[in-house]
Amino acid sequence: MNAIAPIAASPSAAASPVLKERGQREVFCGLTGIIWLHRKMQDAFFLVVGSRTCAHLLQSAAGVMIFAEPRFATAIMEERDLAGLADANVELDRIVDQLLARRPEIKTLFLVGSCPSEVIKLDLSKAAQRLGAKHYPNVRILNYSGSGIETTFTEGEDACLASLVPIMPALDNAAPANLIIVGSLPDIVEDQFRRLFTELGISNVASLPERTVADLPGIGPNTVYLLAQPFLGDTGRALEARGATRLDALFPFGVEGTTNWLHAAATAFDVDDAHFDAVLHPYQERATTALAHQRARLSGRSIFFMPDSQLEVPLARFLANELGMRLIEVGTPYLHRQHLAQELAALPTGVMLSEGQDVDRQLDRVRAARPDLTVCGLGLANPLEAEGLSTKWAIELVFSPIHGFDQAGDLAELFARPLRRRDILRV
Ligand code: SF4
Repeated sequence: MNAIAPIAASPSAAASPVLKERGQREVFCGLTGIIWLHRKMQDAFFLVVGSRTCAHLLQSAAGVMIFAEPRFATAIMEERDLAGLADANVELDRIVDQLLARRPEIKTLFLVGSCPSEVIKLDLSKAAQRLGAKHYPNVRILNYSGSGIETTFTEGEDACLASLVPIMPALDNAAPANLIIVGSLPDIVEDQFRRLFTELGISNVASLPERTVADLPGIGPNTVYLLAQPFLGDTGRALEARGATRLDALFPFGVEGTTNWLHAAATAFDVDDAHFDAVLHPYQERATTALAHQRARLSGRSIFFMPDSQLEVPLARFLANELGMRLIEVGTPYLHRQHLAQELAALPTGVMLSEGQDVDRQLDRVRAARPDLTVCGLGLANPLEAEGLSTKWAIELVFSPIHGFDQAGDLAELFARPLRRRDILRV
């Protein structure tokens, strides 16, 4: 098998007009990211500075994952704090001191901003500096915003990772080239990618975030990075400001995306094409077999993506190109044209793309098209199901291991399952 060449830009797909919508949104805020980030970064703690609503969101999103000592909590800033900002700062310092005294294993503490007006008035970056100086060198204290005013669903991860970039150790010109995989991946997927890079002969590989935040990778002019997630615009900008170069590629979903993503790294590290093909061949074969299974079920079925996670464009490309699904509309909260350039070029011709949301108008389009499957947020899924439409929760796609060759079949299964359920109900 030949190495997969970078996909040529097809002017039709890349230049498709994008419907821009600005209206009511139905998306979770960036606090949601804490649910997967706290599981990934095992020496970190996320302290949301927020309201009871924020605490409820975290509790219900975390659901059964709450155990005795979770690594996140909410410092509730209520009406009484309005009396004076000084009081709120004193209160916050007291909560942080107590927390760090009780949990000495915490090495990085994120103060996470939210939207209540009491919190907006607090300068969390100053609080992080003040508390960081107090607890140095035992704990690093950083801050970012997960507020629903500034962030949707997956942008909380972007803000969190971007806050780590300034403290990554600096590498100079003389340092050997290193590769950073950027984006939080389930450990099992990260391990698979690491193994593949080792087999390819690329050894100087790190992740952002690492499982231990204290082990941040070095960064400098010889650093290249691969985005594992399509929602990391700010993180990418911050890495580039520190001299790193992004390897342009498809995102690693399905055989096509994973091959192209790995090939970008192989090219940067001068891996021989024959070796690349030989290493990847068994993985590609296995994934292709798993997908053939699902293709019979999904081919020709129509799908509509509501804007939610920013995973929509790469997933649509995977579903159309490898499983033969028909894309009715691919909505995304924000279209990062640079990071998605290859993805847009690889979409079938004439796909309807939309950016942002005006939820009522979009629901009208869903009802008119009656797609076989609609990918949407939890709040929209029940009403659509009640109207006889099959849905897939976008949040499930972020929580599940879906990257890479070994997960390609499982990723397809996530879309096949609701259709199967609907087919059974019809029978
Ligand atoms: Fe808290 Fe704002 Fe998110 Fe609501 S939208 S949970 S108030 S951060």
